[in-house]
Amino acid sequence: MLGLAVVMPAVGAPLRVISREVAAPGPGEALVRIDACGVCGSDVFLHEGGFGSAKLPVVPGHEAAGRVVAVGDGADADWVGTQVALYYIDAPPDSPHALAGHENVGPDIRRMGVDVDGAFAEYVVRPLRTLVPIVPEIDPLDLAVATDALATPFHALTSVGHVQPGETLAVIGLGGIGSNAVQIGHHLGARVIAVGRGEAKLALAAKLGADVTVRSTDGADAVVAAAGGQIDVVLQCVGDPAMDRFAVDIAGYRARVVLVGASLARFEVAATELIWRELALLGSRAFTPRDIADVVDLVRTGALTTAHLTSNTRPMVEAQQALDDLRRGSVLRTILVNEAAAHPGRLP
Ligand SMILES: [Zn+2]
Repeated sequence: MLGLAVVMPAVGAPLRVISREVAAPGPGEALVRIDACGVCGSDVFLHEGGFGSAKLPVVPGHEAAGRVVAVGDGADADWVGTQVALYYIDAPPDSPHALAGHENVGPDIRRMGVDVDGAFAEYVVRPLRTLVPIVPEIDPLDLAVATDALATPFHALTSVGHVQPGETLAVIGLGGIGSNAVQIGHHLGARVIAVGRGEAKLALAAKLGADVTVRSTDGADAVVAAAGGQIDVVLQCVGDPAMDRFAVDIAGYRARVVLVGASLARFEVAATELIWRELALLGSRAFTPRDIADVVDLVRTGALTTAHLTSNTRPMVEAQQALDDLRRGSVLRTILVNEAAAHPGRLP
């Protein structure tokens, strides 16, 4: 069987659509038909060489919803037909981090869409241990964005930032991750200060539950004043060392500063800044399968909305245009849709 895939041939090179032979799943693996896959900032980061070039050419795509269509020898046949979220990180099953519920870190993790081919494709073969069954099913567009755009800020605010009801949370950067950090922070009972630049993004943040919106260009003092003086948790979602520094500047006493926006550049901080305010400077990497299940539940109950993330869709073959839209900042997210799956009658 042949399936379409979108390949990044080299760092910075235009994406190419190819037709390739679909592999059969081996023991412990599943063949998954991709229904929808989000395009996000990390895909731009990948395209610009941020993850290096260990695996090239590579098929990008790491926030995907699909359906199991076949399993390898020895696997439970009940998987076939099940809707799944694809957890993009594969940790060795004996990893002490994975065994402790931290599948997102460790020396030998392999990332779908970075280290191995990803979900800008009609079909992928994945280890069964990376699939999160979704029962009852939800809309594949919702599931695709839950599998990163919602799960990443959820992980950062709960497992890393430990946001508590009544605390003041500042979210810096109001794109695909930050806008959702606002609604998740609101859901967790925090007072949310949304810090951004564009008028439209600030307005969206207000709609998603921000108590205060403030422009980052007004400066750190203005943000602290708008927050009422004390910020307990800062979530920094912009891949820019100047904003990493800004995050430290606005953090209050005993605050947790959580960095999510990926930047390879350094920023300066003096030990005394951390000591005198008793600041904790933390990094948050992606999310775990448990986070996906938790945010799917919050989508089901209506506690979290996805409407602002799912309104732009494109057929999978337009992955390059989706990447361009994101780089220009004209969309928060585009979801690539497998049209062959949506309209099975059109399958060759
Ligand atoms: Zn992503």
